[in-house]
Amino acid sequence: MTRIAGIATVLSMLTAVAAADAPPEATEVWEPVPAIVTPGEGAAPPSDAIVLFDGKNLDAWQHENGSAANWKVADGAVTVAPGSGDIYTRQRFGDVQLHVEWRTPAVVEGHGQERGNSGVYLQSRYEVQVLDSYDNATYSNGQAGAVYKQSIPLVNASRAPGEWQSYDIVFRAPRFGADGALQAPAVITVFQNGVLVQDHFEILGATTNVGEPVYQAHGPLPLMLQDHHDPVSYRNIWLRELKRGT
Ligand code: MG
Repeated sequence: MTRIAGIATVLSMLTAVAAADAPPEATEVWEPVPAIVTPGEGAAPPSDAIVLFDGKNLDAWQHENGSAANWKVADGAVTVAPGSGDIYTRQRFGDVQLHVEWRTPAVVEGHGQERGNSGVYLQSRYEVQVLDSYDNATYSNGQAGAVYKQSIPLVNASRAPGEWQSYDIVFRAPRFGADGALQAPAVITVFQNGVLVQDHFEILGATTNVGEPVYQAHGPLPLMLQDHHDPVSYRNIWLRELKRGT
């Protein structure tokens, strides 16, 4: 052992002795104190949520041209009016925790992508596919729980047609530099019916049906629900805005 190595060994031993002698309080962190959030009962929104649809009206939503959203509201749910167009929240969002419940028609019509197709678009650009994927073959990166055409869900956690299902999503928006260059991709984690289907997936760019996804710089944008000409229903839609680093 060289003299320097010997000194280093003695120092590390002394450090270990000091750590062993340190009180437990030495590693306690008291600040900051997390804000108090009162959780909801069951799937009800927590106290700091922004409620986007509570079963009563679509006041928080509009079509792309700014006209009032005219999907059908009944029995505490809203159903796609096929051909009316996608609906967008009036408010724009960045990082969010999103809860949304959805239901494909109980009466099965069509197959593959033509069966209960809709979609939850984070920032109007990044689609988590909504589809009746209960015993319904289609391309894996286009089934329910997929980041459409980008990431196959880890498992198929779909309930039967006509049953309510849920997505709980943690979405981190992409970051762009002042020059518009991508600094950090969007990242998404998705639970379908409480089952993990996307685990911190780094999104490749805006959803596209043809070709490769690409990013274009943007700031906060609305949440969008897709009109894919199938009468898919939604209910209990809320989100929590997340600060960076939370
Ligand atoms: Mg879709």
